[in-house]
Amino acid sequence: MPNDAYFPILAVPRTGEPAGDDANPCLSCGACCAHFRVSFYFGEADPLHGGVVPPALVTAISPSRVCMQGTEQGSGRCVALRGTLGQPGIHCDIYEQRPTPCREFDMWEADGSPNPDCQRLRLALNLPALLPRPDAENDPQGPATPNQPRAA
Ligand code: SF4
Ligand code: SF4
Repeated sequence: MPNDAYFPILAVPRTGEPAGDDANPCLSCGACCAHFRVSFYFGEADPLHGGVVPPALVTAISPSRVCMQGTEQGSGRCVALRGTLGQPGIHCDIYEQRPTPCREFDMWEADGSPNPDCQRLRLALNLPALLPRPDAENDPQGPATPNQPRAA
């Protein structure tokens, strides 16, 4: 399970503290929120099931699943995304209520190497490539030695 501290999809709170791109590359990106179909169990947007995603912002795509409006076909911009892609200030307007796929998408792989989807989407926006997770050198399977067998 990815750690929220590792900046999952568009880790930009609506009222978060200002931070530089060095601290959080999502702060001037947003590419993932305008690329994937963001689909999830309908209960996440149903208060009767304990859901917190605003129901008015989702589209039903099957009897049990919904997706964020705007992302139905893929390559569409999520209705909750605010700001200009690839520019500082882009953010999620429902950050605290965002659905599971947004919370679980991580800019880094488990070994600390950059998520290849992030890299691809960022490069398409002419943004700098992601660097390995800062603490990855402490990981025995860190990105400096990606093919190293797991330590015994
Ligand atoms: S594509 Fe990656 S770097 Fe860009 S906002 Fe999404 S998670 Fe952040
Ligand atoms: S809900 Fe927020 S984090 Fe999720 S795709 Fe939409 S703008 Fe991005």
